[in-house]
Amino acid sequence: MDQKAMYRLSYGLFVLTARRGEKDNGCITNTAIQVTSEPNQIAVAVNKANYTHDMILETRAFNVSVLSQKASFDTFKHFGFQSGRDVDKFAGYSECRRSANGIAYVTAGTNAWFSIEVKQTMDLGTHTLFVGEVKEMEVLTQDPSATYEYYQANIKPKPEAKKDALPEGMHKWRCKICGYEYVGTELPEDFTCPLCKHPASDFELVE
Ligand code: FE
Repeated sequence: MDQKAMYRLSYGLFVLTARRGEKDNGCITNTAIQVTSEPNQIAVAVNKANYTHDMILETRAFNVSVLSQKASFDTFKHFGFQSGRDVDKFAGYSECRRSANGIAYVTAGTNAWFSIEVKQTMDLGTHTLFVGEVKEMEVLTQDPSATYEYYQANIKPKPEAKKDALPEGMHKWRCKICGYEYVGTELPEDFTCPLCKHPASDFELVE
């Protein structure tokens, strides 16, 4: 099988947000899709390792903010490259508002948002699929939505030119999903990207 076929699927990019008690959190996802129109239902598959996952599972509500081509890499880093377990991503973060369900939605580099009430969940092993009804939605700007391909080509910084050589016997692997770099003698087979949680098979040897 040619695994590269998976890269031919097209995806949008979104900030997925939830709130449990007084705690807000959000992460980047590429899995939000509309699954029915009467009523409008949206599905999102969330990695169980994400802090947002447990919040949605318990509160059965989430918001989806649609990232546009105007989104900055900082927005991806802020929501995608750190965990809500370690940092409060909404502490001092002002580029958001709250919808009627009490959950924040992001206004920085986004062109629309949805509030969703979870109606069904499905255990997919590494992920949970949440399907829910749209309770509120709004268009924010006319900027085109960012696809995953657009992010890779235009938003994600290009890898820096070669700097110092690695020590003898050391190699570098780069996550094809988020750009995280792993340096070592070999990449463990069961390695999981600490940033985007993708497996070792999504890493390529670069040095
Ligand atoms: Fe990654």
